[in-house]
Amino acid sequence: MPQTNPADPTESGAAAGDYLEITPLGAGCEVGRSCLYMECKGRKIMLDCGLHPAREGIQALPYFDMIRPEEIDLLLLTHFHVDHCAGLPYFTEKTGFKGKVFMTHPTRAIYKYIAQDFVRVANISTDEQLFDTKDVNSSSEKIGRIDYHQECEEKGIKFTAYRAGHVLGAAMFLIEIDGVKILYTGDYSREEDRHLKPAEIPPSCEVDVLIVESTYGVEKHENRDVREAKFKQLVHDVVRRGGKCLMPCFALGRAQELLLILNEYWRENPELASVPIIYSGALAQRSLEVFKTHRNMMSDALRKEIEQGRDPFEFKQMDQAGIEADPGPLVVMAGPGML
Ligand SMILES: [Zn+2]
Repeated sequence: MPQTNPADPTESGAAAGDYLEITPLGAGCEVGRSCLYMECKGRKIMLDCGLHPAREGIQALPYFDMIRPEEIDLLLLTHFHVDHCAGLPYFTEKTGFKGKVFMTHPTRAIYKYIAQDFVRVANISTDEQLFDTKDVNSSSEKIGRIDYHQECEEKGIKFTAYRAGHVLGAAMFLIEIDGVKILYTGDYSREEDRHLKPAEIPPSCEVDVLIVESTYGVEKHENRDVREAKFKQLVHDVVRRGGKCLMPCFALGRAQELLLILNEYWRENPELASVPIIYSGALAQRSLEVFKTHRNMMSDALRKEIEQGRDPFEFKQMDQAGIEADPGPLVVMAGPGML
């Protein structure tokens, strides 16, 4: 007797096309270039559009050749990290894609800086470049903005953004197609840090499909307090003996979080007042403006500080010559490539 397979829609009595098809175009069994293609009841959605940070040119793109970009109705982008957003200028400008793109306000603002910076530092010849500044500008004009908890609808696809923690503006998307609910988390953090609220759990609803980021799997991170204490001790040891503490860190998110930890520690230890904390790089300066604009998305403690007129993100700008000429102890943060 033939075996029936309940997963086969023709056996279970479901109509043809009555199922959800999910295809990872990147980030499946790898870290980098998050990009997911989803098809349900004739609607076609793409989730994130990242580049592989360790590859160059065309090799860094998700597998766009597995889909027809011109058929995609909607592209939702979770946050501004390169591995989630940097493929967008290529996708909107160099393929047949004609659908709508949505992301939160801060993601859109910072996406533009990130993509421009990507063009600037790309270490390859111009004909291998995936896109240029003109493409970046033109792609940002096509982006629709969505607020947390705002429900939008596009070609019968309903979608709502929820706070994901992780970085400023990061969103999870709850998508509903014909009553089928799908939650795509993107990168998220459930731990409250200095500047951001943690990821929220969407209000009671039954999610049919959960697509969750799992880079660290079941690995346990060291307790946050322990990590912070070790970090502050290490920095203090270096500057106490007159040293220069060089810290490679990405301009966005991580740099702001470290600045907040150090500024607080500096206030608690007045003997450190004369030791400057420097961030080298224009990207951090420009993006801080975005952080200050979106203070409503910050943690409560941080918002209070800003309302009281204090600048919790305070740091000095100094160029390389200034840093080299400074004889005293200092702390320098810069992008890993710049350092
Ligand atoms: Zn991320």
